[in-house]
Amino acid sequence: MKGNEEGYCELCERTGVVTTRHHLIPREEGGKDMGTVKLCLPCHKQIHALYTNRVLGLRLNTIEKMKADERIARYLKWIRKQNPENIITVKKSRQRRMSR
Ligand SMILES: [Zn+2]
Ligand SMILES: [Zn+2]
Repeated sequence: MKGNEEGYCELCERTGVVTTRHHLIPREEGGKDMGTVKLCLPCHKQIHALYTNRVLGLRLNTIEKMKADERIARYLKWIRKQNPENIITVKKSRQRRMSR
């Protein structure tokens, strides 16, 4: 997770958010050439909290697959209702509740 720029999150589709680059397939899984997607910080944190790099790389290696995942879809429903300015201050306890 690195690089901060204002932009568009490909997962929750919010704009004006700080985005980070997520490698769709981790390098150790041979994903060097598979590219990256831009995710806002909460989305990025959330997918890594829900799934290991291995699962993300093998099973959730496109934005479409991530969106179709039941647990991620539930999170997306929630995040889209949030005010982007509040997101940054979301406490860990809340995220933990979301992740199960
Ligand atoms: Zn997002
Ligand atoms: Zn990532």
